[in-house]
Amino acid sequence: MVDWASLPRPHELVNARYEDTPPNRPRPHLGASAIGADCARSVWYDFRWVSGEQQHPPALQRLFARGHREEALIIDELQKVGFVVQQYDPDTGSQIRFISPDNQHFQGACDGQGGHALYPGPLLFEFKTSNDANFKKIIKAERETSDPLLALKQVKAQHYGQMQIYMRFFQLPAAVYYVINKNSDDHWSVIVPYDETAAERLTELADLLVFGDILPPRRFSSSTSFGCRFCPHKDICHEQAPVNRSCRTCSHAQPTEDGDWRCNRYDQILSITEQWQGCDAYCLMDSLKPPS
Ligand code: SF4
Ligand code: SF4
Repeated sequence: MVDWASLPRPHELVNARYEDTPPNRPRPHLGASAIGADCARSVWYDFRWVSGEQQHPPALQRLFARGHREEALIIDELQKVGFVVQQYDPDTGSQIRFISPDNQHFQGACDGQGGHALYPGPLLFEFKTSNDANFKKIIKAERETSDPLLALKQVKAQHYGQMQIYMRFFQLPAAVYYVINKNSDDHWSVIVPYDETAAERLTELADLLVFGDILPPRRFSSSTSFGCRFCPHKDICHEQAPVNRSCRTCSHAQPTEDGDWRCNRYDQILSITEQWQGCDAYCLMDSLKPPS
């Protein structure tokens, strides 16, 4: 007789597969999706790879995959009401991306570009999935302000900033922000016009974070703050945990305007692999040293 209870359950097999995936390395560049984050210090930590590789739990990996699947569904629904949505660059076959000309570390890839007969000009598209609580926050903010754009700015400033950067570098006059509630399948959207002041401010911030070696101030003073709860750098930021040892945290490394990293000690440009490895002459940059 088969002892069914002793066999692994199907979801455990699926989880084991996710657990076997190699850990994620932080991205090499500073992404447009991050620049409008609440805490500039966490963006700087990301760019400097202070926390090293991260193994995301299976549920989080599945959540990311779901976000991608939802994108296809949203596009299908938009196309059925007359939108043209182009997701990929016809020259590269990859996502449509920008690289800031004066700071080539600052980059981003948008969800799509296209248009609709009702709206003048080409449009940017930004698709998001949301949990129920966050979705309801936007609905509530719109009810209270009677202004969907203001509601977006209040509740999802990071997404607002991300779109402003894309519109700046792709030279687009407006964006479609479209969000799905993963619990209820309800949806919400708003047309977001280009806001030059916001885009310039965030571009300047990106330059400051890339080329500055001064640690930006904490946005939240306590590690128990809601804003720090899910921050991967919490222990480094609040508890002086050791930082990841790579060229990005070495005092001899310097980001260049054309998107490279230079080692000033050996006067050479470092590949991504070399940046990960560092060398025996590694010297932790002053701004990451614990206060003595
Ligand atoms: S732990 Fe909090 S204050 Fe520190 S970097 Fe993260 S979000 Fe910012
Ligand atoms: S001294 Fe070594 S660790 Fe530091 S930047 Fe140069 S190669 Fe990287």
